[in-house]
Amino acid sequence: MTDVVLDGVDKVYPGGVVAVRNVRLKINDGELFVLLGPSGCGKSTILRMIAGLEDITGGDLWLNGTVANDLQPRDRNVAMVFQEGALYPHRTVKGNMMFPLEVSGDDRAEAHAKVHELARALGINSMIDRLPRTLSGGQRQRAAIGRALIREPSLFLMDEPLSSLDAGLRTELRVEIAALVRSTGTTTVYVTHDQVEAMTMADRMAVLRDGVLEDVGTPEQIYEDPATVFVAAFLSSPPINLLQATLWAVEGEGLLLDFGQQRLTIPWNDPRASSLISHHGQAVTVGIRPDTLMPIAPGSPAASGTVLSGQVRALEFHGHEWLAYAETGITTVDANEVGRPAAPASYEPERPGLLDRVRSMLGRPSQTEEPVEEHAGHHRRRADLVFRIAPGDRPNRGDRIALTVDFERVLFFGADGKRVTPIHRTPHANAKPREVRSHEAPRHQ
Ligand code: ADP
Repeated sequence: MTDVVLDGVDKVYPGGVVAVRNVRLKINDGELFVLLGPSGCGKSTILRMIAGLEDITGGDLWLNGTVANDLQPRDRNVAMVFQEGALYPHRTVKGNMMFPLEVSGDDRAEAHAKVHELARALGINSMIDRLPRTLSGGQRQRAAIGRALIREPSLFLMDEPLSSLDAGLRTELRVEIAALVRSTGTTTVYVTHDQVEAMTMADRMAVLRDGVLEDVGTPEQIYEDPATVFVAAFLSSPPINLLQATLWAVEGEGLLLDFGQQRLTIPWNDPRASSLISHHGQAVTVGIRPDTLMPIAPGSPAASGTVLSGQVRALEFHGHEWLAYAETGITTVDANEVGRPAAPASYEPERPGLLDRVRSMLGRPSQTEEPVEEHAGHHRRRADLVFRIAPGDRPNRGDRIALTVDFERVLFFGADGKRVTPIHRTPHANAKPREVRSHEAPRHQ
């Protein structure tokens, strides 16, 4: 069993691509931890650095309390499964699963029993004597997982293992993989770009963007309480509405969110008013999930300052619900354009990792600090307001519509894309935090 700490880890590929930048993270012993983010954000690079398949450019990697930057892959007791689980084509499923045990010289009868037990757990026992080419993609992937888990690794790494399978099989396998790795108690790091896979499987997860860690927490924490506008938008389906407003503190009224053609008023007794007031006169992004908007009948009473209005432009049937799109005249924000770190002209670690700190104590040259510049410019566009509609309450295209806003669930972000109001994270039952002793404790999230 193993815990993993990344202490200010950077990765720069030859040619200068900064793939991972100052990542601080602790993955607890026995956790199913998911790395989530769009393609190219550095997820696989982090996984490969943990496996020892890529060098670490800056910072330190700790495995079970020991710095492992220079540890050979074979000395890490790590097993890895990729998108296309590689199997030996001329060996049967059983032959493939037996192979790691044969290499380590295990007792043959015990190895057989172990292979059959794991194959049963993976639902491939009936095809154990077949060759890989006679199996479906899902069966092959189960066999690859079996081969990786058979020698009971301390750390199990999975890089998009389901992305080449069809949607139905993906759903089925993600449930089984999560149950299997939880039953073995093996610390597992799972890479995916699929937010549903991440939310449904993870004990905790990290969201990455452009090699930078944007948020870490349980799926519920990150969904309800996202640290940045990018995270709020990445974990939302249907998409969160991100509205551009200017915030004004108005005596006697409250905090006015000025959207240009429309306004909302947050009352002074709102618990977030004290944090919001410091943004008086500034641009903020207001995040409103579709289920935070409730259509109200025309002319029915609503508290002043709590209603947005628009004209229904499109309706969509999603089976379990209808979504409506309304033109409101409000400018929306593109989350992908907000808060991107400026591309560095050349790479230099921002803060020294532990080894660098030790080196500098020994009189070697120290690293210089370099602040991250935030790109504050927003790409603005006009888009529709998305909201859910209750069954039987469906408006028609072209109808004028009024929507009350549930302020408690509205999120506020600054021009740098970060949350304006404090982030409240409560411990989650599934997370198994274990303290790192202070003398060995690097800073991590
Ligand atoms: P993800 O797994 O999130 O899709 P990767 O870790 O594969 O992202 O890649 C992160 C960034 O590093 C990308 O910009 C990618 O093009 C770049 N990259 C990955 N591998 C290499 C490599 N061997 N050489 C140069 N650049 C690479």
